[in-house]
Amino acid sequence: MNNNISKLRLPPLPTTKYLLKIYKLKAMKALSQNFLLNEQLTDKMIKKTGNLADCHVLEVGPGPGGLTRSILKHHPKKLTVIEKDKRFEPTLVMLADAFATVNGEMEIIFNDIMKVNLSNIFSATEVKPWLDKAPKIRIIGNLPFSVSTPLIIKWLHAMSEKRGPWEFGRTRMTLTFQKEIGERLIAEPMDPQRCRLSVMAQAWTRPIMHFIIPGTAFIPKPDVDVAFVSFVPLATPRTQHEFKIFEKVTRHIFSFRQKYSIRGIETLFPLEDRAELGQMMYKLSDLKPTTRPMQLTVEDIDKLVSAYKYLMEKHPHIEFYEYRASRRILSLSRTKHVDVVECTEL
Ligand code: SAM
Repeated sequence: MNNNISKLRLPPLPTTKYLLKIYKLKAMKALSQNFLLNEQLTDKMIKKTGNLADCHVLEVGPGPGGLTRSILKHHPKKLTVIEKDKRFEPTLVMLADAFATVNGEMEIIFNDIMKVNLSNIFSATEVKPWLDKAPKIRIIGNLPFSVSTPLIIKWLHAMSEKRGPWEFGRTRMTLTFQKEIGERLIAEPMDPQRCRLSVMAQAWTRPIMHFIIPGTAFIPKPDVDVAFVSFVPLATPRTQHEFKIFEKVTRHIFSFRQKYSIRGIETLFPLEDRAELGQMMYKLSDLKPTTRPMQLTVEDIDKLVSAYKYLMEKHPHIEFYEYRASRRILSLSRTKHVDVVECTEL
C-alpha cells in the first residue's frame, strides 16, 4: 500500500465543526449520527483504504463530510456519496463545488443505502475480470452500527453472486463497526468471539481490522468504541456453495454456541429424522459431532453444507423443514392445545 500518496489541496473551506454550527446541524439520534471532526484521524483512516487516485470511490453516510474531505484530498477520479439525511445538502454541495475547482467530480445522492441499486453507480469501463487485479472502485463508510451489520451481510451475499459493485470485480470495502462486531468479523477458529458473522465474512473475503477508534473521537460520543475494518474479496472463495444455504447451515451451527456443534446441526431436520441425519452429516463430512461451533473452520462448514445438500437429495422433504416455524407451532400447541406430532425440547 502506498502511503506517500501526493495530497490534493482543496480551496480553503470552513471547518466541518463550524459548518455544523452555522447550519445548526445537530446529530439526530434516530439516524445514530456520530460525527468525526478530527482531520488527522480521518486522514489516518483513509490511508488504510489504499491508493484512491484514479478510483471511483463510493462513500456511504458522509454526514457533514469530515471523512469525505480526507477522501477528496487523495483526488479520486470520482466520488459518489449516498446520504439519507437531506439536512447535509449545503455542506456536501460545498465540498462538491470545492472539488470541482480542481477538476474533480463529486456526485451526491440522497437515499437509503439499503435501497439503492449500486450497479447503476459505476460505469462499465471500470469492470475488471474477477481473477484480475481489483477494479479501481472503493467503498468506504462510517455508518451507524444498526446499518453496517445488515449491510455487510447484504453485500457479502451480493459479492458471492458477483452482483452490484462486485459485477465490476473484486471491489474492496472499508467500514466501521461496533468494536465487538469488528472482533467477531476477524475471529478465527478457537477464538471465543467466533460466530456466524466470522464464518460468513471469511468465506468470501479476507477481513482486516485496521485499528480501533475510541468512542471519544466522535461527536456526540457513542457508548462503544469503533472498529475500522476492510474486506478484501477472495479470488477463490472458501466455499462454492450458494450464500443462502451456507448461511442457513452456519446459523444453525451457531444457534447453540456453547454446545457440541451437532446440537445446532440437528435442528436442520424434523424431529423424527434428527438423530439419524445429524450423525450422518458428520460421517459424510468426516468430522466429530463433538466439535464445538467455535472450532469449525470455513472448510469444515463447507463440508457440512455438502453433506446437507446430499441428504436433501435423498430426503427431499427436509428441504422445507423450518426449525423456527416448528417452534412456533409448538408454542401455539402449548397455548391453544393444538395437537402436534412434533414434541421437542428445542
Ligand atoms: N461520515 C460522517 C462522519 O464520519 O462524520 C457521519 C457518520 S454518522 C455515524 C452516519 C451517517 O450515515 C449519518 O450522516 C447518517 O445520516 C447516515 N446514514 C444513516 N443511515 C443511513 C442509510 N440507511 N443510508 C445512507 N446514509 C445513512
